[in-house]
Order: sequence, then structure tokens, then C-alpha cells
Amino acid sequence: MARLLVIGCGGVAQVAIRKCCQNSGTFTELCIASRTVSKCDALKDKIESEGSPVKITTATVDADNKEDLVKLISGYKPDAVLNVALPYQDLTIMDACLECKVDYIDTANYEPEDTDDPVWREIYEKRCKEKGFTAYFDYSWQWAYDQKFKDAGLTALLGTGFDPGVTSVFVAYAKKHYFDEIDTVDILDCNGGDYGYPFATNFNPEINLREVSANGSYMENGKWVETKPMEIKREYDFPEVGMKDMYLLHHEEIEALGKNFPEIKRIRFFMTFGQSYLTHMKCLENVGMLSTSPVMFEGREIVPIQFLKALLPDPASLGPRTVGKTNIGCIFTGKKDGKEKTLYIYNVCDHQECYKELGSQAISYTTGVPAMIGTSLVINGIWKKPGVFTTDEFDPDPYMDMLNKFGLPWVVDEDPVLVP
Ligand code: NDP
Repeated sequence: MARLLVIGCGGVAQVAIRKCCQNSGTFTELCIASRTVSKCDALKDKIESEGSPVKITTATVDADNKEDLVKLISGYKPDAVLNVALPYQDLTIMDACLECKVDYIDTANYEPEDTDDPVWREIYEKRCKEKGFTAYFDYSWQWAYDQKFKDAGLTALLGTGFDPGVTSVFVAYAKKHYFDEIDTVDILDCNGGDYGYPFATNFNPEINLREVSANGSYMENGKWVETKPMEIKREYDFPEVGMKDMYLLHHEEIEALGKNFPEIKRIRFFMTFGQSYLTHMKCLENVGMLSTSPVMFEGREIVPIQFLKALLPDPASLGPRTVGKTNIGCIFTGKKDGKEKTLYIYNVCDHQECYKELGSQAISYTTGVPAMIGTSLVINGIWKKPGVFTTDEFDPDPYMDMLNKFGLPWVVDEDPVLVP
């Protein structure tokens, strides 16, 4: 019996909200609030026409504005706030949750919209030097809220999507059930889907393109090792998908896992990309279209990557056209009872099956389902403790059970092929 406020109504939010409606034993009332309220109203109408027992309301909110958020939260009085807007809004929503004394959940760590902001830039450049990785996003901003959430007796659960989110739970699960000591983790994110466009992104284009055009990095013996973008390439034969090229990227769960599992000697993240995607991306980058710095165009300031987003297909619209499967999981090496051991835990998700069930493609699906699961565990008190946490810091078992129940069943392979 809980009331949830969901902020954002994009591809991921639409899945998370519909999964909350499938879990109506926990979620009895939902408010969907976003910048464009017509999207929230359309989703509400759709869900109501399907006869869901969950009571849904909608609202307009500017999640960059704390006062606007406080007004909405204090009026609706939710048991928790699920932030599935953009990472730019993480801090304002956390501030508003603290002020209104409400638990906070999100799927991606904070990054600034304006990377030229001198105040942010100074802190960022110091962090690059101290920590040794140059990604725009990192956990330091949200971890800095830990004491405030502890003092308020509130929970902030960060990054409960698939990666990060499920992948981090896979690590906690492997450690709990299969290893005395984990030596290495390779997180492999394979999208074998084809949407039939020359170029599109699977989730918010701005966030996605910023991530994949940045330097790669991995953690070795507690230190970051940075690479050029797409410098490290491997091939892997993914179960149910087949052979794919994959590239080493920086990814946010490496930072949290490195902190919470300091005994792991090497943590890497790989994502698959086809040659056509990479060629398009390189060309867009070379002509300046991935820039986050505003330029003047015909008397108006525009941000090139935001203009590009307006031209690209909306990820939420890819569902009907995308065929194929995703395979996302973690390969471990380590020791159990004094013997060397390897393990692969992964989920395979079929784009068309997701579309049949919820009208979404698998990337939104694989993120929205864990967003609902993390929220449900916080709301039910199973993953509730004061402070700011990532998903690897709780008992993984209830989360793993819910993955099986809500559409993301996982496989354990105790004899996987390792990544060279
Ligand atoms: P979309 O761009 O599809 O949706 C974002 C939503 O947030 C839109 O409804 C948008 O409104 C709304 N929004 C944006 N700015 C504001 C604002 N200032 N105030 C209120 N609402 C706002 O993104 P996705 O659904 O693809 O991604 C959602 C989140 O999920 C992102 O943070 C992304 O990084 C994360 N993600 C996490 C993954 C994981 O595995 N952990 C994987 C994929 C995504 P409008 O409709 O007006 O634009």
C-alpha cells in the first residue's frame, strides 16, 4: 500500500510505471510528473484503459527547480520519489526529497547539463587529477549527500537500472553465493538489436552519446587506468545473440564496485557497437555535433548535441521496429574453497517480446524493470537504511527473485569463455 511519485515520462519511465502497475500489491497510487504533462496524461489514459487498479494522477514539474519539486512532493505526499528524468536533475530532486523527508531512487548518477559551468569545471578538473578518470559523471556529488540522508533517516538508492543496477546486484550475488574472493569482473553489455535506422540511440541520445564518445577506463588494483575512446576492442560470442565486437567504456558501476569490493583486482566494462554506429558517431563528433557547448546559430544560442537529439529518432519510438536480443551480465574469476573459479551471470531480453508486453524496446525495458524493483524494495522496507547507497550494498536475493518474477530472468553459467 504505497504512493509513489515518478519524475520523468520518457522511455525508461514508461516501463517502470507500467511495471509498478503490475506490482499493485505494493504500488496503489502513482503520480506521474514531468516537463511535458501531455506524455504523462497519455500514459495514464493507456494504463487506465487496460483496467489497472492503481490510482494514477499526473502533474507538470520542472525538476531543475527545487521549489517546484518541493511544492509537488509536499502536496502529493508520496512514500518515495523515483527519478527517471535525466541525470542533470539528480541533485535538485535529492534536495527536494530531503526537504520533504521522502526516500529517493534513481537509475543514473549525476552529471551536469552545462559542462562549461566554471564552478563545476573547477571541481571536475580537480577530481580528474586526483582520481584519474575524466568522465563527466561520477558518484562524488551524490555520495556527498550520505550524511544528510543518514541524519534525516532517509534512503537514497542510486543507479537501479540494468547497468548500473542489476549488474551491481549480480556482483553482490556472486560474492554471496559463489565466491570467497572475487579477483576480476567483466561487465558485458550487448545489444544485438536492429532498429532499421542508419543511426539512432537506445536511450536518451544526449546522455548516450556523451557516454560513448568519452575516454574509456577500468579499475586495476584500486586505481583507474584510462584509455582513448574505443581504444580497447574485443570480440565475444554472446549466448543467444552471437559474435559481436565490444569496446571498453568507462561506466559508473565500476566506481561503486571499486569502493564497496576493494578486494576485486580488476573491473572492466564492455559495450557492443556495430561499425556503422561508430562511423556515424565519429563523423558527428568530427563536425562538432556532439559538443555540449552552446553556439550561436542565426541569432539564437543552441547546444549542438541537443539539436542532434531533436533530429534523431525518439528512443521511446524504437519499440515496434527493433528486432533481436540484448544480453547483459558479468563474468567473474576468483576463488572458492581454495580453488580457482569462473562464473557468468547474465540476462537475455528480446526486443519484440518487450514490445508485445509493454510497447517498449529492450533497453527501456531492462532499465525500467529494475527501477521498479529497487523502488519496491525501498518502499517495502527490505532495502531501507539511512544513507546513500548503490544496489551492490544490500542483500541481492530479494532483487534477484524479483528479476525472475517481473520479466528479466537470469542465467548462471559456471564454465564461461573469459574475455581476453
Ligand atoms: P528520455 O529522454 O526518454 O526521458 C527523460 C524524461 O525526463 C522525459 O519525460 C523528459 O521530459 C523528462 N525531463 C527532462 N528534463 C526534465 C526536467 N527538467 N523536469 C522534468 N522532467 C524532465 O530518457 P530515458 O527514459 O531514456 O532515460 C531516463 C533515465 O534513465 C536517464 O537518467 C538515463 O541516463 C537512465 N538510464 C539508465 C540506464 C541504466 O541501465 N542504469 C540505461 C538507460 C537509461 P520531456 O518529455 O519534456 O523531454
